[in-house]
Amino acid sequence: MEVFCPNCPQRYRIPIDRVPTKPRMVMCNTCGNTWMQHFPKPGSLSALGSIKTHGNIRPVKRPIYPKAVLTVLQEEAALEAKLRS
Ligand SMILES: [Zn+2]
Repeated sequence: MEVFCPNCPQRYRIPIDRVPTKPRMVMCNTCGNTWMQHFPKPGSLSALGSIKTHGNIRPVKRPIYPKAVLTVLQEEAALEAKLRS
């Protein structure tokens, strides 16, 4: 969400997961103004058009061997089979 300084054009962006649940005294770093900032309830944040963070969770993949490694393994297997025969 965004917090606007009432005294100057400065605005601050607060990550959605760091928005306090209770009103807090905040200070503007630009002009030094302090004010009581009220924050919306967590559930109503999406209504304000704030940016949602999409969970970028990838499914766990099995290790894929590079082709060069596979070739070596196949050669080793072929060699071993030859030696045993
Ligand atoms: Zn300010």
